[in-house]
Amino acid sequence: MSMTDFYAACRLCPRVCLVDRTAGECGFCGETAVLRIASASLHSGEEPPLTGDKGSGTIFVTGCSVGCHFCQNVQISRKGMGRAVTVAEFAGICIALQRRGAANINIVTGSHAIQAIAEGLQAAREAGLILPVLWNSSAYETTDALKLLDDGRTHRLVDVWLPDLKTLDEGVARRYLTAPDYPDTAVKAIRFMMDNAPLEWQGTPFKSALLRGVMIRHLVLPGELASTRDVLRWFAENARSRALLSLMTQYTPVARDETTPIPAGYLSKRENAAVLEMLDEFGIDEGFVQEPIQDDAWLPDFDRINPFASSLSVPVWHWKCGIVSGGCSLSLFQNN
Ligand code: SF4
Repeated sequence: MSMTDFYAACRLCPRVCLVDRTAGECGFCGETAVLRIASASLHSGEEPPLTGDKGSGTIFVTGCSVGCHFCQNVQISRKGMGRAVTVAEFAGICIALQRRGAANINIVTGSHAIQAIAEGLQAAREAGLILPVLWNSSAYETTDALKLLDDGRTHRLVDVWLPDLKTLDEGVARRYLTAPDYPDTAVKAIRFMMDNAPLEWQGTPFKSALLRGVMIRHLVLPGELASTRDVLRWFAENARSRALLSLMTQYTPVARDETTPIPAGYLSKRENAAVLEMLDEFGIDEGFVQEPIQDDAWLPDFDRINPFASSLSVPVWHWKCGIVSGGCSLSLFQNN
């Protein structure tokens, strides 16, 4: 697999910062060419076809190229929590997740680090990784970068694409994501994914494992139901039968400074009912919808060895201590 160096004058994502990450410079995403991750765990909170019996093998990558003001993972997306891993360590974490019974490898928010992650996945495959690999991203990605993961010809490192479609409204994208070009970019990325990955199940659709395909996630923002309507209409017209829809209603307001306004409350019952009516209106009758929530108990804290509630997640690797076995093994800690 040929690996063009996107990092030297970085144009890996649509921000095109042109910084030299190989020389230690950082662009908008806040990361150099060194791959850093925050945690790896067996996560039971994903959609049923992705969760299996023991959970999805989630790997949370440090840094982010989008910059959503309402981000729930700000400790790792903007504040740099995490530590460097080599290609071999990354592959070892994938293998550890496989040994602990993960249903798949689920790489969360790796768009700004595709080049390093592609190398890590290649090494993991060579080391015996046989699980499906999920790419869990914002969809703020160029097709050139996505081709590092699947070029449709010579290599395929990702089996299931899990892109967000956050909004198709440029104003919403500017206000909340600091990315007015998000709508056009995300649509192009998702079309690329759908062209490359037809839906393929093990067992009955919706009742077993998703081995290949695209699942589009949309987080409903309180007060922005017109944006959700646009997204659902787009899905009905462009993606129905080519991808699955997962509608997320878990929006939780987080404390931010006054210069970054975000929706102030949770999704109301009235808004939730209106969104469900939209599914009927657009004839979308297969997919996943979350139960509404009204508290922040599920929010992660990546300073803890298990960032999530123990009912949701079993830690396998953590930035503070490496592989977690029983308690946290401090002997595996490495300074960057
Ligand atoms: S990956 Fe990071 S440095 Fe590269 S263009 Fe995107 S935000 Fe800028």
